[in-house]
Amino acid sequence: MRSIVWFRHNLRLSDNRPLSLAAKEGGVLPVYVHDPTLSLFPDGARQRWRKRSLVELDRSLRVWGNRLHVFSGSSSEILSRVAVRVRAEKVYAFRGLTGEDRALEERLERDLMNAGVGLHLTGFDTLYPPDLAAEGRSSPWKIFTPYHRFCRQAFLPELPLPAPSRVDPLPSPGRLEGEENVGEAEEVVAFVGFEPGEAGATSRLQEFLEDSLTGYASRRDFPGEAPTSRLSPHLASGEISVREIVHRLQESNAPRKDREKFLEELGWREFSAHLLFFHPEMLGEPLKKEWATMEWTSDEAGFLAWREGRTGVPFVDAGMRELSKTGWMHNRVRMVAASFLVKNLGVSWQSGARWFAETLLDYDPANNAASWQWVAGCGTDAAPFFRIFNPVLQGQRYDPHGDYVRRFLPELTALSDADIHVPRKRSSSPASERSASPNGYPEPLVDLSESREAALRRYRRLRASVP
Ligand SMILES: Cc1cc2nc3c(=O)[nH]c(=O)nc-3n(C[C@H](O)[C@H](O)[C@H](O)COP(=O)(O)OP(=O)(O)OC[C@H]3O[C@@H](n4cnc5c(N)ncnc54)[C@H](O)[C@@H]3O)c2cc1C
Repeated sequence: MRSIVWFRHNLRLSDNRPLSLAAKEGGVLPVYVHDPTLSLFPDGARQRWRKRSLVELDRSLRVWGNRLHVFSGSSSEILSRVAVRVRAEKVYAFRGLTGEDRALEERLERDLMNAGVGLHLTGFDTLYPPDLAAEGRSSPWKIFTPYHRFCRQAFLPELPLPAPSRVDPLPSPGRLEGEENVGEAEEVVAFVGFEPGEAGATSRLQEFLEDSLTGYASRRDFPGEAPTSRLSPHLASGEISVREIVHRLQESNAPRKDREKFLEELGWREFSAHLLFFHPEMLGEPLKKEWATMEWTSDEAGFLAWREGRTGVPFVDAGMRELSKTGWMHNRVRMVAASFLVKNLGVSWQSGARWFAETLLDYDPANNAASWQWVAGCGTDAAPFFRIFNPVLQGQRYDPHGDYVRRFLPELTALSDADIHVPRKRSSSPASERSASPNGYPEPLVDLSESREAALRRYRRLRASVP
């Protein structure tokens, strides 16, 4: 048998069912396609990561005299053309989650069939089947807790598959038409604190299990201590499977409450995938339909200040600068920064979500859209709109000594712990309350209580407009 394995969002050898099946049956041509017709993956941070990850994947395949064949263009056209050229009988791949992924699968199946080639999709690369409707109904789940409880009872986590013992190449396919070099010199970028690729993912998991899992439940919200796994960019590019993580978690001796909490966070990832499967439109439209008429401002200057970490609210600015410096941001700070944009500045969640999509190394369409909608209040299981984070109190609570803020806002390093989260008052406040600008750090862009009230007024108008 001669097969193509189409690597999509799963850049690894271990627990890769399409690869294991194809490798067992005969020679394999491993293919990756940069597809500009898929609008979901802008040429942003995640793409830079992915290019490095492809280099690592190619290196691993070369152990067996095989290699990765990389192309740019329409996946469907390229895979059909290459399948004919190398006389492949089947194309193996995981199923995709987004509406675009699924439309592409249908197109590909047709094109391949016309060429006499089969498409074998081996299921989703998730822990639980995302296409599982709510218990006893045909509609999707809406609320996380019962969803997660049900899935945990209904599905025993599958054992991860080992990497194939060999992945034989097809007999001398040569350089194929349109094939590109896997990694260009200019793409060898450094990633602060991360090592893209399957080996980097495996050692990140090992480090997390040994050093940070104990205490995860109580410390995970404190960004200055950074005890979370930081596995998200590896998961987003599929360099490690969620089944592998769960399997290793079950073997760990860490306290049960830490293991359970971590499993719950992975559960949110499953829940987001489930929501996206049933609501492909959620990438751009609110899950609560009545939110389509919510009034957003077009405050370009505010949006720019937020993106550049110049809002004058240190916890928010530190997060946004962490994002621009490293391509990653701690979850607590993501929630606070997103809430500040949507509620205090009144900018739409879609604008924020697009910015994250461009700049996050771990950009994941399902997690990103579900999380933004959760923060904004328009998700199925969202934080109620009226519960508005106070970003100063959040900073004081989760970064009590300002370690995190000092790391990303060097202009504030000299301030005391008491001042670090309120370095400046607005110039409209009484002169006696104002402090001098610490090293040019801006005054707060908005008054927190006034902007909070304005947000609540917008929300009340929205509610009043719903019949
Ligand atoms: C506005 C906003 C946007 C976000 N955008 C993304 C995104 O594009 N990609 C992304 O992977 N996560 C996103 N998240 C979720 C979360 O912030 C990150 O998954 C987490 O910070 C990654 O760090 P970690 O790997 O150390 O997490 P850990 O705490 O170690 O969690 C382990 C894994 O569980 C999953 N996970 C954890 N929290 C969540 C969550 N709330 N929702 C879904 N999955 C979760 C992730 O895959 C994560 O890697 C977003 C959150 C917010 C509030």
